[in-house]
Amino acid sequence: LQYLSQSDPEIAGALQAELDRQRNTIELIASENFTSTSVLEAMGSVMTNKYAEGYPGKRYYGGCEKVDIAEDLARERAKQLFGANFANVQPHCGANANLAAYFALVNPGDTVLGMSLDNGGHLTHGSPANFSGKLYDVHGYGLDEDERIDYDALERMADELHPKMIIGGASAYPRVIDFERMADIAHSHGAYFMVDMAHIAGLVATGAHPNPVPYADIVTSTTHKTLRGPRGGLILCNDEEIAAKVDKAVFPGSQGGPLMHVIAGKAVAFKEALQPEFAVYIDNVVKNCAALADGLTEGGLRLVSGGTDNHLCLVDLTPADVTGKDAEHLLESVGMTVNKNSIPNEPRSPFVTSGIRVGTAAATTRGFTAEDFHLVGNLIAKTLFAKGDAAVLASVAEQTKALLEKHPLYPGYELI
Ligand code: PLP
Repeated sequence: LQYLSQSDPEIAGALQAELDRQRNTIELIASENFTSTSVLEAMGSVMTNKYAEGYPGKRYYGGCEKVDIAEDLARERAKQLFGANFANVQPHCGANANLAAYFALVNPGDTVLGMSLDNGGHLTHGSPANFSGKLYDVHGYGLDEDERIDYDALERMADELHPKMIIGGASAYPRVIDFERMADIAHSHGAYFMVDMAHIAGLVATGAHPNPVPYADIVTSTTHKTLRGPRGGLILCNDEEIAAKVDKAVFPGSQGGPLMHVIAGKAVAFKEALQPEFAVYIDNVVKNCAALADGLTEGGLRLVSGGTDNHLCLVDLTPADVTGKDAEHLLESVGMTVNKNSIPNEPRSPFVTSGIRVGTAAATTRGFTAEDFHLVGNLIAKTLFAKGDAAVLASVAEQTKALLEKHPLYPGYELI
């Protein structure tokens, strides 16, 4: 930090401390990952200086030829990665991508079906606290008794409510989503089908999860979860008319100038995701999650739906008689970062919860193996059943430290 450490030592200190924190904890938050140093470099670059309202070749500002190179590459690579005809890489985040998708397909007051928050959906899929629940008449669908998406119930809701749009995708669902079936339900009821694949985008990119692009009218995503890019959003579609509406809904509909340094970072990440090494990485993410699931179950915890098909597990803490909030703190004290999460039929408030969500995308990036994740599952269970026993917690902390030392994050990288 040759400049920042001189001009602003407080922020330089916070950056260094955050790097140290990431290096010294097992990151299990399912929506996080560690981008490559190339992505970091593109993000911390002069492209942050450039105003580029509009789209490549059609900007409202002069001097956009160089940033056009970055946006054109990002769009082309995103299209190639997901087999889509059109890509918009400008949404500042996943929530903005979803806002633009709503603007493109439905009108305020229209009926929309989305997965309810307490069954694994995202705020932007209809929470009353979010623009989606405030502007649209959103009804939540959920899970069946096996804790899988209840497609039959969704179909009955569509019969009854005549929605204008159905949203597929989730923030805390550990199973494969049948996008083809959902598209059939939507289209046979005259509704648009929108998919938010934010969590599983990396798996979709390599074929580890079925691709929604052939079935959905619009697919949105974040770029920073399993896809391992910079923090940001992405919109894909196949239809030319819908693509034109999406572009208008992003700019000028809901955003101003695009973040060109982030778009450059997206282009870099998409190129990385097109390499064979990324498919190996995603394969490991999924295998590691199965090993984590085994470790957690052996340790005595219950997994919602009984297991996982993807990069995350939703853990029901009832057997350990500990809340999600307390579990988050306990695990932090022994070197593991997780987030509390509601479970189906949650009896507690969203600030307390009876569950945690854990994922393998980030620690797999630093090299954790299936064996390591099996141990992590055991260590989580041990911590949560320990009832505060200091000796047990100290022994877990030692084992997490050993795992972290075995797989250093950003080896050789220093903040410059
Ligand atoms: N969609 C889903 C399914 C998510 O899980 C998230 C974030 O967790 C988002 C959208 C929102 O993304 P962002 O935080 O970038 O706005």
